[in-house]
Amino acid sequence: MILDKYSLGIGDRFCCQGKAQLAALIKAKQQGLNITPVWNKSNREHTIIGTKPADTRKEADDAAAACRWDGPYFVDADHIALSNVDGFIESSDFFTLDVADFTGKPADEADVKSFIQKHKKYIGALAIDGIDESLEISEQQIEAIAKKFLLAVKEAGKIYRHIEAAKGAPAKPGSDRTGLRPDFITEVSMDETDEPQTLVEMFFILAAIADERIPAQTIAPKFTGRFNKGVDYVGNVTKFAKEFEEDLAVVAFAVKEFGLPENLKMSIHSGSDKFSIYGPIKEALKKFDAGLHLKTAGTTWLEELIGLALAGGDGLAIAKEVYAKALSRIDELCAPYATVIDIDRAKLPRPQDVDKWDGRRFAAALRHNQRCQEYNPHFRQLLHVAYKIAAEMGTHFSDALDKYEDVIAQNVTENIYERHIKPLFME
Ligand SMILES: [Zn+2]
Repeated sequence: MILDKYSLGIGDRFCCQGKAQLAALIKAKQQGLNITPVWNKSNREHTIIGTKPADTRKEADDAAAACRWDGPYFVDADHIALSNVDGFIESSDFFTLDVADFTGKPADEADVKSFIQKHKKYIGALAIDGIDESLEISEQQIEAIAKKFLLAVKEAGKIYRHIEAAKGAPAKPGSDRTGLRPDFITEVSMDETDEPQTLVEMFFILAAIADERIPAQTIAPKFTGRFNKGVDYVGNVTKFAKEFEEDLAVVAFAVKEFGLPENLKMSIHSGSDKFSIYGPIKEALKKFDAGLHLKTAGTTWLEELIGLALAGGDGLAIAKEVYAKALSRIDELCAPYATVIDIDRAKLPRPQDVDKWDGRRFAAALRHNQRCQEYNPHFRQLLHVAYKIAAEMGTHFSDALDKYEDVIAQNVTENIYERHIKPLFME
């Protein structure tokens, strides 16, 4: 299985918006732009909501059938580890191996030594096309990188081989794929770490991935700046742009150097809606003729709330109920996301004030339109992590999704097409 040049991780918390999401990609296709949809969902999300990986598979298959989607699509077991991968094997054909927990833990002395030995030839100045200054590489540096990342990549190798064994044999000889490539897509993610990886680290992480014979098609590093949930990028956009371009250069170089899959591309775990870096990303992709996988899953659940609010009546009442309950349980809801949200509690509206809002006002506070005076990023971030409340409402919530399907779908589609696809790939 090969992941095409452009793909979007659209996820979907409650597995109800598959068709509306796909409608956005169909609109792009009608403009001549092919983007592969990937429904990604982590174990954390499944646990909080009470869904199973099979629900995501069903959603994706049903959406593809209903929309007569004839292109490829995937179901991504997002951020899985050896401890929880088994529940995803049957339903998923895309696996994001998360080994962040293993970074910083040193591998066996012997493994570190052989890694240094194998890659000694890179000591000195390494010139890479597309990067102005050569990378300066020392033996100490390779050793430090091996001590920081080798164990993590080896763990990724273990997960990969575990999936490969469970999913069956690699592609048959005679197919146009290399013998090593199995029938699922592999991503290696290192985004949930404290520090962004340096270029030299990226280079040797890719070397280690190749050494482990992981046919990674996407790699998710941690980037500079803050990727808070549901709101725009916080950081130096120029610095991000430079870092992203240089990462693309390193990936292109490493593909050739280490024989990694030719379509290996960057995966950005955006945490949704990083609009201010979409422009620089688009420019960099053009410059390097590079592909992209971008995950922006949580954005759709907020469109469900916007749709409910705009529907008015009991739809709006449910949206208000979610907010009031979220506010009363803010510590609990924010805890799992502590490092990726910045909520100023003083800027959250009081529930009794929200109660007086009509649907338009609620939607305006929530919708990610930074030009709108009523937009409130604190309100949005709290609701972003409040899907647990909706899950607990059970059929009270899911029936409303059904009842107001039309208005919700319209918002879901428009959001993905207008605010994500167009600025990332078209405008
Ligand atoms: Zn991630």
